[in-house]
Amino acid sequence: MHVVADGAVAPEDDFILPFLLDAPELHGRLVRLGPAIDEIIRRHDYPVHVGRLLAEALTLTALLSAALKFEGVFTFQTKGDGPVSLLVCDATESGALRGYAKVDHARIPEGAASETPVSDLLGEGYLALTVDQGDEMDRYQGIVELDGQTLEECVHHYFRQSQQFQAAVKIAVAGGGTSPWRSGAMMLQRLPADEEAIEAEEKNEAWQRAMVVLADSDPSQFYQVEASPFDLLYDLFEQDGVRVFESKAARAECRCSKSRVELVLASLSDEEIEDLKVDGKITVTCEFCNREIAVDEIDLAVLRKA
Ligand SMILES: [Zn+2]
Repeated sequence: MHVVADGAVAPEDDFILPFLLDAPELHGRLVRLGPAIDEIIRRHDYPVHVGRLLAEALTLTALLSAALKFEGVFTFQTKGDGPVSLLVCDATESGALRGYAKVDHARIPEGAASETPVSDLLGEGYLALTVDQGDEMDRYQGIVELDGQTLEECVHHYFRQSQQFQAAVKIAVAGGGTSPWRSGAMMLQRLPADEEAIEAEEKNEAWQRAMVVLADSDPSQFYQVEASPFDLLYDLFEQDGVRVFESKAARAECRCSKSRVELVLASLSDEEIEDLKVDGKITVTCEFCNREIAVDEIDLAVLRKA
């Protein structure tokens, strides 16, 4: 195995590790998340079913965002008519992650979280993946209907529909209750090829081989801190050779701020402001991180004059 970053030390936790299979030039990402997702999920009082779903969604967000070249925000969102009517996660290019779910607690099904099909939680609806680089011109969004028993299957459905690239993911989540949330996932991606026919056939074989390796792999290894990601990749893809690149650290980080709240308030009418006021101030709770941001009478006066 080649390590591209000289003297690179294998990352342990909360990382996104890009790699390349030598022979067929297939791209891959290995994601392992621990404290980052545990912090995000525990800021809310979610039933274990929802914690698990959010853990998966955050992991897929980290994985998919790392497969794209962008500067800005990548968003993974599901909307449906189930007990979890909304699931929103986003990631910046620097690895800041956040996410939340809108939950109707009374409608959460009984039974083991790990065995509940995603359709029982999300209902019928859609999955939207968005890349937002700040400029309206640079916004890209792909939408497919929710189709699958797991979020992993829903993402595969997205891949099949998008036709932009061939890719496959495998994901595993552990935790809930008293044990911290952990997750791991791998994505393999085949870039569109325009090679000679012979090479194409060779690449097809390599792709099929990689798909078998991924299907046969034990994804619980992806999240175990004890398993070195370098060893793991080497064991899986020894035949083709693996090159790893510098890993990126993932972290729980919300982008809410008082100034953003003030920006929204500044656009409201006087009546709307009055409606929002409680004891002379407006308190806004961030849906992502549950932080309360208070804008008092003095702030408001300055804001409304500006
Ligand atoms: Zn926040």
